[in-house]
Amino acid sequence: MIGLEIHCQLTNLNSKLFCPCKANYRGFEINENICPICIGLPGSMPRLNQEAVKKATIIAMALNCSTPEKIAFFRKNYFYPDLPKNFQITQLNIYGDTSVGGTGSVMVGDKKINITRIQLEEDPGRLIYEGSSSKNQITLVDYNRAGTPLVEIVTEPDFETPKEVRDFLNILSDILENLGVADPSLEGAMRADANVSIKGGKKVEIKNIGSFHDLEKAVHFEITRQESLHSREIEIIQETRHWDDKRKITVSSRSKEEELDYRYFLEGDIPWVIIDPATKTKLISEMPESIVSKKERYVSKYHIPAQVADVLSSDKYYSDLFEDSHTESNAKEIANIITTDLMGLVDTREKREASKLTPHHLKDLADSIQSSKLSRNSSKNALHEILKTGKDLSIIIKELDLGNVSDESELSGIITQVISEEAQAVEQTRSNPQTINYLVGKVMQKTKGKADPTLTLNLLKKQIGI
Ligand SMILES: [Zn+2]
Repeated sequence: MIGLEIHCQLTNLNSKLFCPCKANYRGFEINENICPICIGLPGSMPRLNQEAVKKATIIAMALNCSTPEKIAFFRKNYFYPDLPKNFQITQLNIYGDTSVGGTGSVMVGDKKINITRIQLEEDPGRLIYEGSSSKNQITLVDYNRAGTPLVEIVTEPDFETPKEVRDFLNILSDILENLGVADPSLEGAMRADANVSIKGGKKVEIKNIGSFHDLEKAVHFEITRQESLHSREIEIIQETRHWDDKRKITVSSRSKEEELDYRYFLEGDIPWVIIDPATKTKLISEMPESIVSKKERYVSKYHIPAQVADVLSSDKYYSDLFEDSHTESNAKEIANIITTDLMGLVDTREKREASKLTPHHLKDLADSIQSSKLSRNSSKNALHEILKTGKDLSIIIKELDLGNVSDESELSGIITQVISEEAQAVEQTRSNPQTINYLVGKVMQKTKGKADPTLTLNLLKKQIGI
């Protein structure tokens, strides 16, 4: 049985959860993005970022969680260098459900994964270890991240395999990205803890897993470790282990974190927040169309194959491009260009940022293919050039001489040449018209794939006399 606690930063917000410092702490000098509130100076007062509450509520609703009318914040007290106030402001359901999200669920294929709760809290600072050996190692602390809005999503122990974990994480990342609340590809934006237990063994908690990629590995490692203990009849003890991302193993925590008493109490500096039905209705109306609904629309309205629609709808980058470029008549062609030609070219964050492609380019490409101005083959070359230069398609066609040969007399000349060179194939075509494709291929070869296919076929038939 595997249960997850996923920490997701609300990376698209402007400010931290309780102060005006930037939520996007990346790119600052060490300890530059801080103020008296987020480093917990005496007398400083937190002020709740209402936008963060809205975003967290939207996440809860998208994951089919109940949302309470009132939410409250609590202090979770513990002493650790990454926590400047010596307490973290978080949420807890001891006075009824007062976290942003209650129970909910996500479908992973045919399997329902239940969500226990969703809470909004502040991210701690970041520890930086310097020095190569344990003898001269020093720990530095950077508070730029302290106070960043974080949503914790807790699941029931419903997963049975690392693959189910991975599938769930992929779906979750897509949902969060589609909602426009987070960018899961940012380093440190998604982190997780996992609870793993095998039949007959105690529950082991793995902390400190810094990426979704490592989460699957950590779960896999832990299952193998516990099964190995079990097969040797060694007792599996209840403990907290840390994920060592350099060695890719879990190691027992020597600190007794699990025995800590966090002495939770209500955060008196932040009043309870009321989320009335009108606010909820407004939030629902502002929510972007869900991935599932987009997929259904692509299939039913444009007759895009389900598999293509799946790829197109689940990645926000692709679906945004599609939404901004398609018309009723070119939708299928644009879906095709995105999922066959574009996908391999912009598969990383860096490539997407460097790309000069606009929805307008995609529309031009699809229209040119549909009107036989550009062959599919040439459109791939044009797409490469667009990504690099951002030039207009018409200019690229001229510069790279990519346009289809659709001039009848020019094409006729080429066909006459092919017919004289391929006497045997011409004879064969006369007796078996289906073999004409060989001759079409020869014309394509001579025109470097630029001959208009329909015109080529018609002219060939005419000249051969079939
Ligand atoms: Zn601050």
